[in-house]
Amino acid sequence: IVTFRNVGKTFGSRPVLQDVSLDIEEGQVAALIGPSGAGKSTLLRCVNQLERHSAGEISVDGLVIGTHTRSRDLTALRRRVGMVFQSFNLWPHLSALENVMIGPTSILKTPLSQARRQAEHLLDQVGLAAHMAKYPGQLSGGQQQRVAIARALAMEPRVMLFDEATSALDPEMVQEVLGVMERLAAAGTTMLVVTHEMSFARRVADRIIFMADGQIVEDAMPEDFFSAPREARSRAFLERAH
Ligand code: ATP
Ligand code: MG
Repeated sequence: IVTFRNVGKTFGSRPVLQDVSLDIEEGQVAALIGPSGAGKSTLLRCVNQLERHSAGEISVDGLVIGTHTRSRDLTALRRRVGMVFQSFNLWPHLSALENVMIGPTSILKTPLSQARRQAEHLLDQVGLAAHMAKYPGQLSGGQQQRVAIARALAMEPRVMLFDEATSALDPEMVQEVLGVMERLAAAGTTMLVVTHEMSFARRVADRIIFMADGQIVEDAMPEDFFSAPREARSRAFLERAH
């Protein structure tokens, strides 16, 4: 459902993605791991074109994005992709419920009553039924991140991207967010997840994509990757991560 074909990205003269080819199937959960500066965030941001790629082709659910795709197609693309960042970026002046409703009502033109029902349902699913009326400033980091997940889901994306969604959280809040992500995965959501949580990657992902220096070094099943990595760079990374 997400395909990269020989994708390259340069910042100035500096290559940060080189000849990346990748095929994520519907319902698959792919964990993207690798050292700092490997290009993980850049790859993720190319999926919804927060970064334009400089070579190759990306397609999401049949919509093909080249290096010169017009902005109308980018709008269509972004509706298919939900993204959750390290920073939650909620609207501070809107309640949790309103944060989840705003995308559907303003962009999808969903009727208010329907958007409200859907937002209530999503907030209930992420364990925030009792907190819908609160403002971001009244919520913990873990709760805010769960609102951000519900907000992304409200747009009914075909694929969800997570870029270190738990890295900014206090340790005791990490698990509640990972728990929500695990339930999404079990429900069949297509997910591309950049994470430093190796036990989560091992347990939840269908596939581990290990990147270094802008390239995919190894693409393997979690059992194989963690117990018998094929590449020297994967082994070195895992030794440091433990
Ligand atoms: P981390 O684990 O630290 O988040 P990452 O794997 O996500 O790292 P990226 O953020 O994708 O790495 O960055 C890949 C490379 O591209 C890095 O060397 C970074 O300095 C460079 N880079 C990223 N964004 C830009 C930008 N806007 N302008 C110039 N260089 C950039
Ligand atoms: Mg990053």
